Formats: sequence, C-alpha cells, structure tokens
Amino acid sequence: MCGIIGINSNEEFYIKDAVKRLKRLEYRGYDSFGYYDGTILFNQVGHIKIPNTDDKSSRIILHTRWATHGGVTKFNAHPHQSTKKKVTIAHNGIIKNYEELREKLIKKGHEFTSETDSETTAHYFEEKLKTKTIKEACIDFLNDIEGEFALVIMVEGNENIYALRRDSPLVLGVGTNTNYVASDIYAFSDITNMAIFFENNEFAEIGTDHFQFYDKKGQKIQKEVQTFKWEQEESTLQNYDHFMMKEIMEEPIVVKRLLFSLKTEQKINFEKFIDLMRKAKKVTFVAAGTSYHASLLGVYYLHKCGIEAQTIIASEFEHFIGVDKDTLVIPISQSGETMDVIEALKYATKHGAKIASIVNVPYSTIQRISEISLNIFAGQEICVAATKSFVNQVTLMLAIAKEFGYNVNLENLPQRIEEVFTMKETIKEIAKTLFKQKHLYVLGRGLSYPVAREIALKIKEISYIHAEGMMGGELKHGTIALIEKGTPVIGLLNENDYDMRSNLKEVAARGANVISISNKLKGDIMISTSNDGKFGILASIVGQLLTYYLARELKLPIDKPRNLAKSVTVK
Ligand code: GLU
Repeated sequence: MCGIIGINSNEEFYIKDAVKRLKRLEYRGYDSFGYYDGTILFNQVGHIKIPNTDDKSSRIILHTRWATHGGVTKFNAHPHQSTKKKVTIAHNGIIKNYEELREKLIKKGHEFTSETDSETTAHYFEEKLKTKTIKEACIDFLNDIEGEFALVIMVEGNENIYALRRDSPLVLGVGTNTNYVASDIYAFSDITNMAIFFENNEFAEIGTDHFQFYDKKGQKIQKEVQTFKWEQEESTLQNYDHFMMKEIMEEPIVVKRLLFSLKTEQKINFEKFIDLMRKAKKVTFVAAGTSYHASLLGVYYLHKCGIEAQTIIASEFEHFIGVDKDTLVIPISQSGETMDVIEALKYATKHGAKIASIVNVPYSTIQRISEISLNIFAGQEICVAATKSFVNQVTLMLAIAKEFGYNVNLENLPQRIEEVFTMKETIKEIAKTLFKQKHLYVLGRGLSYPVAREIALKIKEISYIHAEGMMGGELKHGTIALIEKGTPVIGLLNENDYDMRSNLKEVAARGANVISISNKLKGDIMISTSNDGKFGILASIVGQLLTYYLARELKLPIDKPRNLAKSVTVK
C-alpha cells in the first residue's frame, strides 16, 4: 500500500510542509515514514511526525510505509539508497523477483542494508547507471522487473525526479513552478487540480517546470492534463477527537450529495449504468472487505426485484468461471485502487466482460479502466475503517435496486440517519458493558445478513474484539457450541422476523447476552424505518457507533488500527 510523494520545485519549501503533505497519505500505511531531500536521508518507525525544523529544500521524495517484505524497523523504512548513495528511491508495491536480482547485485559488490524487496531497485539503478543513461535504465527496469511498483527516484547530480509505474497508483500534479508526483491526488489536491495519471509501464522525467512521459520503449508520449474535481470535507478534526466519528457524522450530508448527483451530474451515467445492467445476461459484482458487504447487500436487493446477480470476493474471482462477453462485472471499491479488484478486472476483461464500476476516489485506476463509472461522492475518508463510504455504497445499491422495482424512499434517509445519532448515549452505554469481551456474535437474516458481517468486521478492525457476523439460520449448524453464559450476541431484528426471534431465544436459552437492534419489536436499539433496505443501512450505522465506543473504552488508536491501511494496493 504505502504512500509515496516526489516534489520538484524551483522555489524552496519547508521540509515540514512536505511532510505534512505526506501525512495526507498516511491512511495508505503508517508503519514508518521517511524522506530524502538530496542531502539528508531521514526515516523513523511509527506514525508520521512533523519535524521540528525550519530546513528547506526544493526537491524531495517521501514515503509512508505499510510493510510487505521485512519487519517494521528503521532499516526497512524508505527511502532506500544504493551502496554508493548515487540513487535514492521510495517504492509502493512488491518487486516479485527481488531475491534473484539481489543475489546478482550482491555478487557485483552491492551492500544491502534492509530486508525489503524495494531496496533492490536503488542498487539496480546504480548498477545500470554505470553504463547507461537514466532513460535507458528505466526501459531496462520495465523489462527486468516482475511485480508491482510506483517508484520515485532521485539520482545524484541529476536535478529531475524520475517516476515509474506498474499496477500501483501514481499521478503527476502540475503546479506553478512545482511538480508533484504521488500515490494519489490527495497529496496535492489543495494546491492544484491539474493531474496526469500514469498508466502501466510508463515512466516520466519530472523537472521543476517541465515533465516528459515515456512508454516502455522509451518513446515520448504526450498525455492529457486532467482537471479534477474532488469533493472534500474539511480534512481537520474540527471538534472531533477522531476522524471516525467525524466521518460518521458526515453521513447524512454525503447521502444527500450522492442522491442529488444521481439527479444532476451523474444522471446520464446512472441511466447508462442501469441500461448496461438490463442488457447484461449476467451481473457479477466484485469487491473486498467492507465494499464486498455493500455488494452483497446489492445482490440481496436485486434478488428482491427478481434480478439474478452474484458477488465474488476479488481475491478469489479468477477461481470462478463464467465470465464472458455477456457478463457485466461491477467492481465496488472506495479507493478505486484495490489491487485484488484490479486483478479480477483484468481477468474479466480478458474474458470479454464489460466493466461498470462504483468508486469513491475519482480518476482512480478502477474508474479509468471501466466502461462506465459511478462516484459515491463520500469525499475524503481519513479513518482507515470505512464508514460514510459504506453508507453511500449501500445507498447507491438501493438507488440501483429502485430502478428495478425495489420499493424504497431514499429522500428521508439523511433524516433517519440523524435519528440514529440521537441514540449515541444509549449505544455508548451498551459499549461500556461489552468492551471487556473477547468474542462477540452478530446475527442477521436476509437483507440484514450482510449488515451483520459488516458490523462484525468493523468491530474486529477497530476494537480488536473477535466478532463473527453470521446468518441467524446457520448458528445451530455449529457456532452455537461457542455460546455460553454472558456471550454477547447482537441480533438484527427487522419487522416481525419470527425466525430471527427464535434464533435470539435459542442463544438466550444458553445464557447469551442478547442485544437487539430492531425497528418494530421492542429492542435495545430502535430504528425508525419499516423499509428492510434502510433498516440495514441504519443498523450498520449503529454498529459503527458501537465499534467507535468500544475502541474508545479500550483506548485504541481508532483512526489507524494496527496492521491495516486504507488503500489495499498489494495482493
Ligand atoms: N514492499 C515494500 C516494503 O515492504 C513496499 C510495501 C508497499 O508498497 O506496501 O517496504
């Protein structure tokens, strides 16, 4: 995952300001961070800290790491330098053939100081530059390297920054007298809205007021500068202690924004999207994590309207056959950069399928490789755990299902969400009774089943409590063996659902501590909607708030949970 940035300017800037820019990418990984400004190579383990220095620079590369190869140590932190310190790199991705390359380079006298795959690239370039130009070295690199990379390079005695891309995201931001290259537009979206996206196997030479892109053969390519619009909430905490709570509180407004867009700027695309769905013989969603749960809800909604659809977890996609030219594949991804989803789409495209995507981050790779794409307009989500983006993904699923006949009034959804917020204190009190538990179960049936899984995932991510989201009906086929006196079981009880009521009675009979989220029968948390689709969204928000308060009681790092990163750009 990792976030990388390169800045080349003909005016000096404070290094601390460049590090603040890196902080904007911290959601991509926060194991360690570092930078190289042409003189100083700095790195440190842990979250990004803004350095207390007035040092300035006009050219810098920066990195925030999510470790794949090699532990979370200072030695493994990027940037990495070659033996003679001629080449310094920051890398996002995985160099698959690094062990072979490393062996060869060691034989040639290179000394490695880290366990990472990434360091190999610095030595590789230093070795090449003994006999070749940087451009020739880049061409060789694209031929010799197996794996994924977004790589920024500084070479001693050369005033440019070089950047190469395959599969990991990379974008050039065109400023005034300053060029930026970064993992995503958010690194520079406060400065410029002009960007050029790298496609696979392209590289670029980036000066202060010029840049040149090349293809893998070294031919110059002229690329279009895109002007992007990026809905962005205030990216400071304002009065909140955590981005998670701030982002949950933004849910009514982002739902409104999405619904408005479907009637205005996204109207035509939305109609085309629905048309593609109608024409397809087969509709297959593909997603991972929270987005998978949104897609599963979508599948349930569509089935309610008699539309056959399925969803497949992205990393398993290619093990399922049956993708062909009559299939419409709908990827759902917050970042639009999820590597597992991109790989699934490559497979789908190879088999002739059409791609119609749903993303949050505009101009992301998934959006760019899709025939058509809808934005969920959730805006920047900084907390690693998805909250408002999930709500908007599901809202869009409901809007789509509505086109196929699903009966739902979405106009009052923002208000219903506000009503959930009025129960914050009750939810907080429930969290106080649960935070010491080691295991917890969430049960749902029908439309509430994906929601049960999403609530459980959120609890695992943020509060590190082992939580399982299950179909109520499956409980008696095994898991009920784990229920003992005091085991918390959260039940999602939509309307009269007699079967779920029975399931909750069954666990209660074995001593479980049942907490019910209900919209009709008396529950611990009451949601005011009679629509089963909206019940799901609102129950998931109860789950988000519960998770937040559990993690607060446990004093955990809510916005940056251990081992996770927001944008999962490795396989
Ligand atoms: N493979 C590199 C490392 O472990 C980069 C990781 C990444 O991009 O996520 O340092």
